Amino acid sequence: MKIHEYQAKEIFGKFGMPIPKGETVASPDEARNIAVRYEKPVMVKAQVHVGGRGKAGGIKFCKEPDDAFFAAQEVLGMDIKGLIVKKVLVTEAVDIKHEAYVGIILDRATKKNVFMVSPAGGIDIEQVAAETPEKIMKYAVDPLMGLRQFEALKLARFVYPDIKIARKAAVILIKLYNSFIHSDASLAEINPLVLDTDDNLIALDAKVNLDDNGLFKHPDIEEYRDLDAEDPAEMEAKRNDLSFVKLEGNIGCCVNGAGLAMATMDLVKYFGGQPANFLDIGGSSSPEKVIAAMRIILDDPNVGVILFNIFGGITRCDDVANGIVAAVEKLNPRVPIVVRLTGTNEEKGKEILQGLNFPATTSMDEVVKMAISEVTPVA
Ligand code: GDP
Ligand code: MN
Repeated sequence: MKIHEYQAKEIFGKFGMPIPKGETVASPDEARNIAVRYEKPVMVKAQVHVGGRGKAGGIKFCKEPDDAFFAAQEVLGMDIKGLIVKKVLVTEAVDIKHEAYVGIILDRATKKNVFMVSPAGGIDIEQVAAETPEKIMKYAVDPLMGLRQFEALKLARFVYPDIKIARKAAVILIKLYNSFIHSDASLAEINPLVLDTDDNLIALDAKVNLDDNGLFKHPDIEEYRDLDAEDPAEMEAKRNDLSFVKLEGNIGCCVNGAGLAMATMDLVKYFGGQPANFLDIGGSSSPEKVIAAMRIILDDPNVGVILFNIFGGITRCDDVANGIVAAVEKLNPRVPIVVRLTGTNEEKGKEILQGLNFPATTSMDEVVKMAISEVTPVA
């Protein structure tokens, strides 16, 4: 789950991280009121689940309260990379001397939590990684030991040669590590970590991604979920108890079981096609689930064919076939459907599908090739 900057800062704040004072509002008047109360320049910052807001014009420096009013008026409702700004964070402006990058991410390659730090913060860290990788230090943390002080100091020294500042930064790195671990995050990042003109370190921006599978332990964080900011198809899937991930291709996949769904996508790719999605309809497949699955797949305009790959075990092929019939009646799909049914009640399932004018097979290779032949290849 992604959360907003102001929410990530709340988490950081609970772990004692230095963050600028700020409040989140949804109207220009409220933004002005905060600026009046703070009696100093503020930043008005778009709250959307995407980076690079500064470059997109979603972050404004406001010297006077009236500036905050107009900045909020401009930024609220703005479209940033397809997301509409509904709230802005009004936060006291900081006099910046230096911007660094510090972050920690769960790295599947090393199977560890990896710190990345760089004295070249503020801008796109991907660009720094690509063009000047020597400016980034990476360090995989031992999961049993956690981040120890000497390790934190080594990372901090890479960013801040001045030992006095490095010592302060090391404390922040340990707090960042703790907030990452204790909220079951998959990423926690400060970009920029700022040194102000009085040599204070401040987390000026904050990004935290949470592991959905750990959220049940954190009801307070679960409340941060912003339905407006999530992919509507994925939310609809969640409501119907389906696992769905949208992809870029044109072959809509509807499969029972996560493993088989992965194998189906592999096979689609193997034969030269592009899956439009991952979709697991799960173990027992009621017609309602099949209808919901088909509706979600059809909502994607790229989809040119729907491929059902059903391996009947606990799931019965006739149940799924009934679901397909019901879904076709209800939704009148605009694209062809190809079906593979095998396993429990396969014969019954095929009988049920005979009335419809799309083919069913028992071979996985065959159904994938049939699906691919229905669409024009995408590059
Ligand atoms: P992002 O573009 O979405 O990553 O948003 P950030 O919060 O990181 O802000 C982008 C940039 O705006 C920062 O790198 C800073 O250069 C600038 N900025 C943000 N807040 C302040 C502030 O309080 N004072 C000053 N002078 N610049 C700021
Ligand atoms: Mn940033």
